[in-house]
Amino acid sequence: MSNNFSAQLINWRRTLHTWPELSNQEQATTARIRGWLENAGIRILDYPIQTGVIAEIGHGESLIALRADIDALPIHEQTRLPFASQHAGVMHACGHDVHTSVILGAAMQLKAREDRLPGRVRLFFQPGEENCTGAKQFIKAGALEGVQAIFGMHNEPGLPVGTFATRGGAFYANADRFIINIHGKGAHAAHPEQGIDTIVLTSQVIQALQALTSRSFNTLDSLVLSVTRIDAGKTWNVLPEKVMFGGTLRTHDVKVREQVQQRVNHLVKSLVEASGGSADVSWTAGPPVLINDKNWARVASEVAKVAGYEVRTADLHLGGEDFAIYLQNVPGAFVSIGSDSEFGLHHEGFNPDETLLAPAAEYFSRLAEQALTLLNEKTLEINPA
Ligand SMILES: [Zn+2]
Ligand SMILES: [Zn+2]
Repeated sequence: MSNNFSAQLINWRRTLHTWPELSNQEQATTARIRGWLENAGIRILDYPIQTGVIAEIGHGESLIALRADIDALPIHEQTRLPFASQHAGVMHACGHDVHTSVILGAAMQLKAREDRLPGRVRLFFQPGEENCTGAKQFIKAGALEGVQAIFGMHNEPGLPVGTFATRGGAFYANADRFIINIHGKGAHAAHPEQGIDTIVLTSQVIQALQALTSRSFNTLDSLVLSVTRIDAGKTWNVLPEKVMFGGTLRTHDVKVREQVQQRVNHLVKSLVEASGGSADVSWTAGPPVLINDKNWARVASEVAKVAGYEVRTADLHLGGEDFAIYLQNVPGAFVSIGSDSEFGLHHEGFNPDETLLAPAAEYFSRLAEQALTLLNEKTLEINPA
């Protein structure tokens, strides 16, 4: 790998980093990516999408896809880097600029040996990952048609550069959101007996939810329920009529997910009704559990080993990732690549180590080629998603 290649990827990444755009508003990002691909003579495919780019390299029957996400977050950057965000309140704090630059780099390498490629590699530069709309949009537009396997990455701030991790089966979590409304009866703070105290009820419900998830489910079920917001009351001497609170539930198993949701609904209602109040619980589904194909995860790890990575078996991840939706339609593997940042994902100080870029790009170009070779040989046992 030449220094030029590495410098080019850093340059692209910094440009993307300086001009981040929120989910589904990635117009300038889309134009940049398109321009860089077109400059390299890579063919852009025409799909009905608002933002994002779909391109393709190679010829032949076999077809795999490499996916990068391109959107940023509503976070005000505090890194003080010379290439820090110039869009106030918007930041590439999840490293999607890194993922985009890695897949661009892989594209350049694949383009350089396009004549020898044993098939086609479709490139997804996907918008709207953070709000879980992008993968659905791409699938609806037809981007997955003909794709036999799909691969993607997330940088992992907790892993050193040069480290690679993935796992077969469940990997990233199912991430649901919930909102709970508790209705009671407002009263003077000095006379709670005249009302139904929603504040005390809410604190009981929150405690009971923590006990439910830790006492009524197997520790090995891997679930976490966090209450992240409470909206209630306006002043010091009035007991509010209503409390709204909410948070997230993360699981790795659809059955566990369903059981927890049922138990939460039941517990909230019965506890609140026993005190004379009423409650409603609403759930919004985020990304589903991400399930890697076992064979493709093994291939992804083998290629990483050959490429010089220290390869680990990843732990279950409690984050959500909309790549999971592709994997419900096509087999493939999602992988973690160490980015060694002091501050984690979605943090205003997130600062991944850019030396990961060139090796990761090289890795994905090798993986793409190896996947096509295996598809042509028809030796890999593929488990349909
Ligand atoms: Zn994120
Ligand atoms: Zn992300």
